[in-house]
Amino acid sequence: MSDGSTGLRLYNTLTRRKEDFVPLDADNVRMYVCGPTVYDFAHIGNARPVIVFDVLYRLLRHLYGAEHVTYARNITDVDDKINARALRDFGSEIAAGRLSLNDAIARVTETTTNQFHADVKALGCLEPTHEPRATGHIDGMVAMAQALIDKGHAYVASGPEGREVLFNVSSMADYGQLSNRRLEDQQAGARIEVKDHKKNPGDFVLWKESTADQPGWPARFHVAGQGVDILGRPGWHIECSVMSEALLGQKFDIHGGGIDLIFPHHENELAQSRCAHGTEVMANVWMHNGFLQVEGRKMSKSEGNFVTIHDLLHTEKFGGRKWPGEVLRLAMLMTHYREPIDFSVRRLEEAEDAWLRWGEVRRKASEDDWLAVNQTLHRGGLSGDVLAHLLEDLNFYGAFALMQSDAKAGLAGDRDAAMRLLMHAVFLGFDLGDAAVEASVPEIEEILLRDMVAERLAFIREKNWTEADRIRDELLEQGIQLKDGKDPETGERVTTWEVRR
Ligand code: AMP
Ligand code: ZN
Repeated sequence: MSDGSTGLRLYNTLTRRKEDFVPLDADNVRMYVCGPTVYDFAHIGNARPVIVFDVLYRLLRHLYGAEHVTYARNITDVDDKINARALRDFGSEIAAGRLSLNDAIARVTETTTNQFHADVKALGCLEPTHEPRATGHIDGMVAMAQALIDKGHAYVASGPEGREVLFNVSSMADYGQLSNRRLEDQQAGARIEVKDHKKNPGDFVLWKESTADQPGWPARFHVAGQGVDILGRPGWHIECSVMSEALLGQKFDIHGGGIDLIFPHHENELAQSRCAHGTEVMANVWMHNGFLQVEGRKMSKSEGNFVTIHDLLHTEKFGGRKWPGEVLRLAMLMTHYREPIDFSVRRLEEAEDAWLRWGEVRRKASEDDWLAVNQTLHRGGLSGDVLAHLLEDLNFYGAFALMQSDAKAGLAGDRDAAMRLLMHAVFLGFDLGDAAVEASVPEIEEILLRDMVAERLAFIREKNWTEADRIRDELLEQGIQLKDGKDPETGERVTTWEVRR
């Protein structure tokens, strides 16, 4: 289509509706996603945006061509949590003069960034085109703060922790557009203590003065013809405004992150960028994934209810066993990206059942079929109902249901269904190359057996005794005896089995 639309529709937080996706430039579709703050292992909640936007990245590459999509995901390596971690881990070396604070911080951020890379690779995510680090863009942040001062959107004030350059939210007529918060409401109902040095309680920091035990960069601001030197560090939001401009331009197509970022982070990014550049929009589409929760509460470090990606992959801390990256990825994609996910062992087991089944489809496929699947994908030949679901605001839930029925039909001998399943699984970032071949046979047999038992129960409910008996006899021939009984609590029919050799 000449305007660059491809049938992709995305829910836009900014307009609160699903819209046809029309890129600014179909030759260079641009997406920015807020990445991790690197002070500790990432938890599995942090993996959700990485996986969700990886799928969108794959979809955009399919629709526009891999070389026509630019994806930037930042690393936040300036943050007070990082300082605190550096002081905790290297405090004695710093005190003894063996290590500078900056070197200690560099150690924390480097180790954590490497861990993050290893984690998300194991989850099947492609590397983004760019992975900018905040510390590489400090000059740009000082320049943007200055531009905001020059245009009357920012001011310098002295607060309890030193001097700050603050964004004046009342200088922007439509501040609050993304999170749908009107400034007057915020001021009237403000529970935040109004700090004297701020003009409005919602004013936020662009640059703040550092003490000797905080990292700092020299910066000179010009205010009303006077130079003001503030050795300091940037506020959180300004880094994304600056890095997205540097890599994607003043206006780009998609900006993403978790739902907690809508306010204040994205609202403030948007305010800074639009006011600095005098633009109507920063990104056309704003997308937010729902929370990964534990017993109804957002997984987060501060709640203490988190499990790291690393622990899930490499230790037995969750559910008493390790979990393959593919199972974690699938557990994330079984639910629509905007819905909350309740993270539990049960969910991982469900994902694993599906994953083992897909592996079985792969093992049964001939090498020619497997080659054909990969060739079709390589030629961009993906089409059909699964793609249609993905085009409709990344409807993973619908796509997953179709893939499950293809897997089932594939295992029952339907070659086309098997090939479709394999193609979609590979497209969605699941490595069926050898991982699947390693899956243990008894586990797969048990899953298939569970399927057959469930199918027989469905026939019994429909009073289709012929089909129900056929399944029973088929299993008996394989040495598996079914036993029917009743659940003592619910009175429902349950079927167990035993192996007769
Ligand atoms: P943070 O390091 O906390 O800034 O988070 C990095 C990314 O992970 C952001 O896009 C957050 O919105 C996202 N995120 C953090 N916690 C969760 C969670 N429990 N569920 C889903 N996304 C999350
Ligand atoms: Zn950001």
